[in-house]
Amino acid sequence: MQEILTALEQRHDLPDEALCALLETDAMDGALFQAADRIRRERYGTEVFVRGLIEFTNYCRNDCYYCGIRRSNGKVQRYRLSREDILACCTEGYALGFRTFVLQGGEDAYFTEQRVCEIVSEIRERFPDCAITLSIGEWEKSSYAAFFRAGANRYLLRHETADLVHYRRLHPGAMSPEHRKRCLFDLKEIGYQVGSGFMVGSPFQTTAHLCADLRFLQELKPDMIGIGPYLTHGDTPFRTQPNGSLELTLRLIAVLRLMFPYALIPATTALGTIHPQGREMGLKAGANVVMPNLSPVSVRKLYSLYADKICTGEESAQCRSCLERRVAAAGYAIVTDIGDVRRN
Ligand code: SAH
Repeated sequence: MQEILTALEQRHDLPDEALCALLETDAMDGALFQAADRIRRERYGTEVFVRGLIEFTNYCRNDCYYCGIRRSNGKVQRYRLSREDILACCTEGYALGFRTFVLQGGEDAYFTEQRVCEIVSEIRERFPDCAITLSIGEWEKSSYAAFFRAGANRYLLRHETADLVHYRRLHPGAMSPEHRKRCLFDLKEIGYQVGSGFMVGSPFQTTAHLCADLRFLQELKPDMIGIGPYLTHGDTPFRTQPNGSLELTLRLIAVLRLMFPYALIPATTALGTIHPQGREMGLKAGANVVMPNLSPVSVRKLYSLYADKICTGEESAQCRSCLERRVAAAGYAIVTDIGDVRRN
């Protein structure tokens, strides 16, 4: 096993069999996290980048079986932020030192291509020194291009699972894994910095699926890779499924850092939800991004992708300073620059 780890650290790749073996044992975790931290410090030092997350709508036309804001969940109180609300979040975030805004939401028909473009243009005009990231699901390439022209420069779209059969077990027939992958390559072609990723421990997931996820990411070469444990939501068809595991998520963060030394890897909110120190552990296993919530407190609880989500009661400034402390306690330091990927 030690040879496997050494090979991964030196070559940033492993054959399938060794990769699967590494994912299936906890024997190497200590050494694995140390190796990931070494590689991360070589490229990024102790820097941790912040992205201000604005969850601007929980309406969604999709019906993903795992997601709490799926269309068929009649128990969610739906909301959408106005253009003014969104701009106010950015203004507050800018004052707190954020230089990246992530607009995330369900696939909400109200936010047409034109409306999204208007919002993006206005943010671009008011905050010319900031990165604008969209995370609003699947669109035609022409729409992605229009958002880009309006001023968006990054896009987050997790592939969720690279295995076609597994994808179909997590999503209704109207959603296509081929289309989701197509979207990711379209986004790259347009010139976006792209983030992808997957849930760890989603129902029916096997080690072979995880291996396929890593291979897909090698093909896509995204700038950012977001992973977090699958967390069960009580009002979804997966209500009886168990949560994903903290340990496996951390192991995968470390493997991602070793396979993709350049990548921006967030310590996600889902990781902080499954364990009170989850995000700190994620940073120590190779993550280098945190995404504090900038949404108005009045809507935070309503963006409930999964149960018991953290940070739903605090003002943005509190979220920011809480993370600042946590990152420092883990031995790293938040930086407020735009935080572009370092490919070399
Ligand atoms: N509508 C956008 C944003 C989705 S929410 C899109 O389709 O890209 C962002 C991410 O949350 C999803 O990509 C998914 O990986 C994750 N997520 C959704 N439900 C979850 C759950 N129950 N547990 C953990 N992560 C979840």
